[in-house]
Amino acid sequence: AENLKKRKIAVLGSRSVGKSSLVIQFIDNQFVESYYPTIEATFAKSVKYKGAEYDCEVIDTAGQVRPSEEEQFVSVSLSCMLQDEFSILNSKHAIGIHGYVLVYSVTSKASFDMIQIVYDKIIGFCGVTDIPCVVVGSKVDLESRYACSCFFLVLAKLQSSRQVSSQEGEKLAREINAAWLETSAKTNLNVGKVFESCLAEIEKRAPHAGEP
Ligand code: GDP
Repeated sequence: AENLKKRKIAVLGSRSVGKSSLVIQFIDNQFVESYYPTIEATFAKSVKYKGAEYDCEVIDTAGQVRPSEEEQFVSVSLSCMLQDEFSILNSKHAIGIHGYVLVYSVTSKASFDMIQIVYDKIIGFCGVTDIPCVVVGSKVDLESRYACSCFFLVLAKLQSSRQVSSQEGEKLAREINAAWLETSAKTNLNVGKVFESCLAEIEKRAPHAGEP
């Protein structure tokens, strides 16, 4: 196809924020509770967006330690990138990434604080001042479980496991010139939009990248 554009998107963030779940929901349209890949994985999907067809390669930077072991650790591939630039550069998957999806969980302030750190590392790593990027607050379903009436809404607020407000998320995204979305891989909220926004961010900056 003449219009086919190749887009390579890397999904980064702290361990167990739901990176794999987001990617699996996007690729396979399912939520797999116990999906723990032990290695970095790449997935492919064709997406039609605004009249163009995109051949997306999504890199899920899964860590090698299961979420139960260290909740707040950065995934292994990311920490390799932070400490040793060769690890991710040598990985055949990491060459020519067009856009980044930076995921935190709205239930984890630590994972949110990590976003700025990861962003700064990418900027330094790539030697640029601006990158196509979407900031994603995941697991929003965890706060609305009891929200079926006004009374329960109040109860939900009291019981809410939310640690990062929408305002905080939006503010950070604005500061780093990124798109921002809140998602649930479990209920499939905004999952497709994450990748569409990432395509849009790439398009804004390099509309002809990856054309044959
Ligand atoms: P990763 O380490 O960032 O790839 O995180 P995973 O995708 O393995 O998810 C970590 C844990 O969070 C798993 O137990 C998932 O089932 C759970 N999880 C991921 N996304 C969601 C979500 O949107 N809602 C809820 N309630 N749980 C989620």
